[in-house]
Amino acid sequence: PREDLILQMKDVSKTYTLRAGKAWAKPTIVNACMGLNLSLTRGKTLAIVGESGSGKTTAARIALGAELPDPGGEVLFRPTATAEPVAVHAMDRATRTAFQRDAQMVFQDPYSSLSPRMRVQDAMVEPLEIHNLGDRSSRRDRAAEMLRLVGLKPEMLLRYPHAFSGGQRQRLSIARALMLDPSLIVCDEPTSALDVSVQEQILQLLEDIRDRQNLSYLFISHDLAVVARIADEVAVMRRGMVVEQAPPETLFYNPQHPYTKALIAAQPEPSIDRPINLKLVAQGAGSPDSWPDRFKFSGISAPPLVQVEPGHKVRCHV
Ligand code: ADP
Ligand code: MG
Repeated sequence: PREDLILQMKDVSKTYTLRAGKAWAKPTIVNACMGLNLSLTRGKTLAIVGESGSGKTTAARIALGAELPDPGGEVLFRPTATAEPVAVHAMDRATRTAFQRDAQMVFQDPYSSLSPRMRVQDAMVEPLEIHNLGDRSSRRDRAAEMLRLVGLKPEMLLRYPHAFSGGQRQRLSIARALMLDPSLIVCDEPTSALDVSVQEQILQLLEDIRDRQNLSYLFISHDLAVVARIADEVAVMRRGMVVEQAPPETLFYNPQHPYTKALIAAQPEPSIDRPINLKLVAQGAGSPDSWPDRFKFSGISAPPLVQVEPGHKVRCHV
C-alpha cells in the first residue's frame, strides 16, 4: 500500500529579491529555499533543523500557504488518507478557509498568537468565531477542554497572558492551535525561548497530543538534540538546501555530511548517547572549500541529494 502522506513539498524554492534603496543599485537575490522535496507521513513528525538563516521558517510558511513557492514548486496537503490532495500553492478562497482549519502553527513566541490585552478565553475562542463555529457556550466549553488537554486549569480562562509563565504561555498557544481540531501542526522553534527543564515538558506534551489526536507535525528547530527527541525523520538544512535527511538515530550514529557532523558535535547536551568529537566541535563545519571533494559546492550549484542507504539521503557527488 502507498504511504499515507499528509504533506508533500515538491521542488520548492523561494527566491527573494531585495531592492536596494537606490534605483541604480543592483538588487540582492536571496535563495531562502532551494529544491526542497519533503514528505510528512500522517501521524508522524518531520523535523527541519539548521542554523539561523538556513530557510526553515520560509519552508514552514510555504507549507502553510502563507508564502508562495517560486513557480514550479508544489505543496500538497491531504486532509484524509483518501482525500484528493489540496494544492496549497494554488488555493482559492474557500479552499484556503478549509485548509486554515486543518493546519495550524505554533510559534517560538507565544505572544504572537496571544494578545497581551485579550483574556485567555477570548483568545481561545477567536478561531471558532472567525470560522463561525458553535455558539458562546460551546466555544467556552471547547476552550476549557483544550486547556485541560494541555495540562492547564479551566479557571485560567479568565486571566490575561502576562499572568502565566513562559511554559504555561506555550501551553496556551498549543491549546489555541488545537481549538479547530487540526490534523497538521507546524511548530516553528516552539521550545527555543524556554528553559531546558520546561523545554522537556513542552516536548513531552507535544508528543502526547500528537499520539492521542493522531496529529502530524512539521517541527522546526535549530537544535538537533530537541528534534532527536520528537522527530521520526530529520532534514538538515544549510543555506536553503537540505544536505542530509534520515531518522534521528541514523543521523546521530552515522552522520555523513560535514555540516551534519559539525551540528551533532556542537550539541552541548546530546539526548542520545554518543562520543563527542572535540576536534570537529572546535573547527565547526568550516566552509565548503574545506569539505572532502565529494561534498563540495560551488556557489549555489550543489551535488544532488542521493540515497546512501535505505531512508538516508546525503547531498554528495557519487
Ligand atoms: P531560518 O528560519 O532558518 O532562520 P528564514 O527562512 O527566516 O531562516 O530565512 C532564510 C533566508 O531568507 C535569510 O537569509 C533571510 O534573511 C531571508 N528572508 C526570509 N524572509 C525574507 C523576506 N520576506 N524577504 C527577504 N528575505 C527574506
Ligand atoms: Mg526561523
